[in-house]
Amino acid sequence: MKKAVFLDRDGTLIFDEGYISDPGKVVLIPGVADALKRLSGAGFLLVVVSNQSGIGRGYFSEESSRAVNSRMERLLAEKSVRLDGIYCCPHSPEEKCRCRKPGPGLLLKAAAELGIDLSRSAMLGDKESDAEAGLSAGCRCNLRLSLQGQAVRSAFPVVRSLPEAAESILDFFS
Ligand SMILES: [Mg+2]
Ligand SMILES: [Zn+2]
Repeated sequence: MKKAVFLDRDGTLIFDEGYISDPGKVVLIPGVADALKRLSGAGFLLVVVSNQSGIGRGYFSEESSRAVNSRMERLLAEKSVRLDGIYCCPHSPEEKCRCRKPGPGLLLKAAAELGIDLSRSAMLGDKESDAEAGLSAGCRCNLRLSLQGQAVRSAFPVVRSLPEAAESILDFFS
């Protein structure tokens, strides 16, 4: 069984412009590529788990969401980072699906498909619901990312950058 770091997409790996649907607007957050390289170097799979309710709300198509993912993957590949999976929830909150975070559905699906031991895995995202999804799926290290530097109220440990998150995750499992 493998270990993994589950990563939120918008506001964690790429800048969150609010319902991103234009691949041309995808910008990696500085420090992301090096941090991901450290984690994969330590044997963690890198798995993106993303709520894309803009699809269910009719703001954009599943295709444009996929194009955004592809663009992000290409930008990461240019920095020699390869993602092991991208799992998206396309539903609106009203659909009451099992995959929308803070539900654990996306993580459970990835774990089943990729052979991941959740108890050796971590979840990182910029919203409380990201860390909650990790906890609910059985990840033991669940971190809340706050890039703005302002105080954030969280039931989870708060990290200020992707490099700091990588450090915390490696420390936690060492
Ligand atoms: Mg986010
Ligand atoms: Zn869903």
